[in-house]
Amino acid sequence: MITLEEIKNFLKEYDGPDINIMEVCGSHTDAISKNGIPSMLSERIHLLSGPGCPVCVTPSSYIDRLIALSMEEGMVIATFGDLIRVPGSSMSLSDAKGQGAKVVMVYSPMDILDMAKKDPDKTYVFAAVGFETTTPVYACLMDEIIKQDIKNIRLLTALKTMPRVIDHLMEEGAPIDGFLAPGHVSVVTGYGVFEPIAEKYKIPFGVSGFSGQELLVALYGIVKNAGCGVVKNYYPSVVTKEGNTKAKSLTDTYFEVSDASWRGMGMVGGSGMELKEEYKKYDMGSKGLYEDHKKNKACRCDQVLMGKIKPNDCPLFGKTCMPENPQGACMVSTEGSCFSYFANGRTM
Ligand code: SF4
Repeated sequence: MITLEEIKNFLKEYDGPDINIMEVCGSHTDAISKNGIPSMLSERIHLLSGPGCPVCVTPSSYIDRLIALSMEEGMVIATFGDLIRVPGSSMSLSDAKGQGAKVVMVYSPMDILDMAKKDPDKTYVFAAVGFETTTPVYACLMDEIIKQDIKNIRLLTALKTMPRVIDHLMEEGAPIDGFLAPGHVSVVTGYGVFEPIAEKYKIPFGVSGFSGQELLVALYGIVKNAGCGVVKNYYPSVVTKEGNTKAKSLTDTYFEVSDASWRGMGMVGGSGMELKEEYKKYDMGSKGLYEDHKKNKACRCDQVLMGKIKPNDCPLFGKTCMPENPQGACMVSTEGSCFSYFANGRTM
């Protein structure tokens, strides 16, 4: 059995063909930077950060809609903290709050239940963004709303699914030779969902955990399997081929596959989830929220998310765009590629 030292030596000394490996999980982006993984790799192994940070891929038109709702009489927007700073076309929810908009930050969607019950004259709108990992939580919220017969909660959804957007990246010719499959998403979906894509494009996927050692093992496996359409599970303690069937079943009770708009990438068919027709009365008008305009035309988040450039290739990186003054969504969250590069002084 190969040792960690041998894996490290292999990755550092690798002198085969250049290989581009994309991670599509914001937590991986963060962990790769914090563990100094890029400096442990040969110059021929290139890491790209893909569309794995939920707030980074949320279109500006969605933020605009939240802001418009937050300004309406009797409306309160509830959201996770990161989303509040994401730029819309002219301002963020945080800016709107400064102008009197009703916005509350929550740690869990469940927090909205008590708020809404205590304040029945207001309509509470939850900003439901995220991937396969978060959608089951919104399904639990729906369960409670219906069970408790709460009439003043709605969802504004911008939910995304990972396999379809990975397929889209490959269709669009993104220069990717292998994927570090998202660890958290894979816990729910199971790694089997990536097998058709691996086979279709003859590229390897490695499902990884989040420690430095786990990442190195997965990267080693991806490099070793370059050119092969295989999915290897290097995170077997929590990831199975089938995933969490209970969570998937709960999601399927309330949500169905839809097209979805990704910041900078536009509409990607079948890459989202929305409330089923029979639950549409709980929806706050999520359809028709398309990516259309960016706050700063010089922001190159779209190319960053597609793996076409690295964050530090953007002319605004570290100059006018920094975490305290983000010009694009990729600089907002700790899981955003630009934030991660900036905060960790990463250049590769
Ligand atoms: Fe956009 Fe800022 Fe990243 Fe440039 S550095 S791509 S402006 S978020």
